[in-house]
Amino acid sequence: MKRGNLFNYFLLLILPLLSLSHGSYSQNSMTNVTSGQKIAENIYLLKDYGCNIAVMVGQDGLIIIDTGYKGSALKTDSVISTISNLPVKYVLNTHLHFDHVGGNMKLAEDGAVIIAHENTRKHMLSGWKVPEIQGINYSPVLPYSIEYLPKICFKDSLKIYVNNDVVQAIHYPNAHSDCDVIFYFQNANVLHAGDLFESNGFPILDVWYGGTIDGYIKALDDILKICNDNTVIISGHGDPSNRQGLQDYRNMLVESRTRISNLIEEGKSVDEVIAADPTKDLYKGGESWIPVKLYVATVYEDLSRK
Ligand SMILES: [Zn+2]
Repeated sequence: MKRGNLFNYFLLLILPLLSLSHGSYSQNSMTNVTSGQKIAENIYLLKDYGCNIAVMVGQDGLIIIDTGYKGSALKTDSVISTISNLPVKYVLNTHLHFDHVGGNMKLAEDGAVIIAHENTRKHMLSGWKVPEIQGINYSPVLPYSIEYLPKICFKDSLKIYVNNDVVQAIHYPNAHSDCDVIFYFQNANVLHAGDLFESNGFPILDVWYGGTIDGYIKALDDILKICNDNTVIISGHGDPSNRQGLQDYRNMLVESRTRISNLIEEGKSVDEVIAADPTKDLYKGGESWIPVKLYVATVYEDLSRK
């Protein structure tokens, strides 16, 4: 694993520990929020420990997609204000995970209205806890206080008419989780896929909160239909990509699913499947930011319980 990836992954595990209380947003001494990178005429991208936060600027105000870690909230807010001093109108959350919703309260205090899938709100109200997997313990996340919660929720899809554009919010059931939403700026032709796309390696399936590999692949097939060759696609983590990048990612997941499924049918245990290295040769970008064994283990968990 590359050093940068390892560092980011380490932080992914421990950062919730640093922010167990959701009543405040005290600043961590460790913050790593990049300045905004312009990726379209009126859309910028910043990263909080690698989590992609999109900022749309327009006459109606700022639209923010995902808000990073809780401990970075003040820093994220200040970076956003360097892009534009317009007020934040809407915060859009792609799904429930702590690295995507941690800055919600700070932006809501500034007047933003938070929008997300109804299951995102439901899970944020009850907290997040998953079992140990392959020797890795994700820190549990306590229930969020009301200031963090989405105020507008939807079930299948939503259109937001703002800044002379249409933002299409579309829910894909049982993919990375049970509350994944993509946000597509139709006129700008920019799509934020959240953790339905990781341009820097394999994803992890949150099988304890509704994630399934078949739902994930189905979501990718549907998202590909929305995109054209000029669409800028923002992943949950990693650099912006395009339709071809998403197509390659989809093909990689389909092939790995087939291989893992075949090994399960041969009666292999999860450790034997990981040892067989079924994803070897599939990812061309170097080390995956999420350890590949976590991807394989969660796909195994999903397929072997059917
Ligand atoms: Zn996630």
